[in-house]
Amino acid sequence: MAVPFIDLRRFEPGFLDRWAGKCREITEHTRFVGGPDVTALETQLTQRCEVTGTVGCANGTDALQLCLRAVGVGEGDRVLIPDSTFWATFEAVVNCGGKPVTVDINPEDLQMDFDAFCGAVEEFQPKAAILVHLYGWGSARLAEFRDFCRQRKLPLIEDGAQGFGVRWRGESLYRGAQLATLSFYPAKVLGSCGDAGAVLCSSTELEEKVRQLGNHGRTGHYDHGLVGWNSRLGGFDAAFLNLSLEYFDARVASRQRIAKLYRQRLPELGFKVCEAPEDYEENGYLNVTLLPPEQRPGVREVLQKHGVGYGTVYPGAMSQQSGAEGFLAGRVGGEQAELLASSVLNLPLFAYLRPQEVEEVLSAMEEAVGA
Ligand SMILES: *Cc1c(COP(=O)(O)O)cnc(C)c1O
Repeated sequence: MAVPFIDLRRFEPGFLDRWAGKCREITEHTRFVGGPDVTALETQLTQRCEVTGTVGCANGTDALQLCLRAVGVGEGDRVLIPDSTFWATFEAVVNCGGKPVTVDINPEDLQMDFDAFCGAVEEFQPKAAILVHLYGWGSARLAEFRDFCRQRKLPLIEDGAQGFGVRWRGESLYRGAQLATLSFYPAKVLGSCGDAGAVLCSSTELEEKVRQLGNHGRTGHYDHGLVGWNSRLGGFDAAFLNLSLEYFDARVASRQRIAKLYRQRLPELGFKVCEAPEDYEENGYLNVTLLPPEQRPGVREVLQKHGVGYGTVYPGAMSQQSGAEGFLAGRVGGEQAELLASSVLNLPLFAYLRPQEVEEVLSAMEEAVGA
């Protein structure tokens, strides 16, 4: 039995009919851009993420760019980012005119290393920093990141594209963030029917600034207080997300169950599976299995033979990308991001993955032990 790495078609009974009804309603009322579905989504996200306000936008990359612009990042400004993240984090800085400085990760939680970060702040005097919550959890030292930046008045943007649904110290991961971003790319934990994103704001001033930037700098329909761009959220996306949120808790519970099962069973076979630090309740976004780099090709081969899908998130560090050349303003720390890139393997983990599929993955991994 083949097991896909991800299958986005496992909708709950009744979901597709309800969505079809929604599509008809939106079209009848031509609620294509903005409108009540977008407002309802923003209200829901504000409540769920326990923040002051939310601005829907076109995608998660734009969400980062809106945040960077809102805190004043422009030509030549240095911005700290982790060396292990999705390329969009790097791009967003460059697209705002900034120069990224990469900071190595901590091998324990796989997030940006706090000590290296503090050193990088001293050395590079950045205009802002982006902390990425990767893999469905966050840094073990999140409170220290936030306190340190607040004390130094250094804007800290939290790239939360993978973190929707994560709980930290019993509350939403985003509670207490100055600015955080979400991506609703279909393969994220909360995915849309296209590209979409959002910015979570800790004050109404930031919310207004972000909203203005993402809507042509508008102060009135044809009055423009600043140069922004168009990053508005569509009505279909908002409606799809509102509908999906009704099922979200069940989807996350399903992911968490499977993540837990891998975490129990894979170590019995001798594989190391990463887990969220204390204080976190993960959302089950990704399975992160670490292999000795020399063992990985053999394990992949066995999985391929069994038709089991897998991921390599991410296969390379940001500072090593050919596109980074000419933009990178510095690189702080050791080689942990590269080491992770050469040892990571992600097994299928998505909502409603069936028990017999998990068993299929595990038996392939059992065969791969000697590989
Ligand atoms: C997906 C992702 C993004 C980009 O989001 P898009 O909606 O695809 O633009 C940014 N950062 C991280 C960590 C992501 O996983």
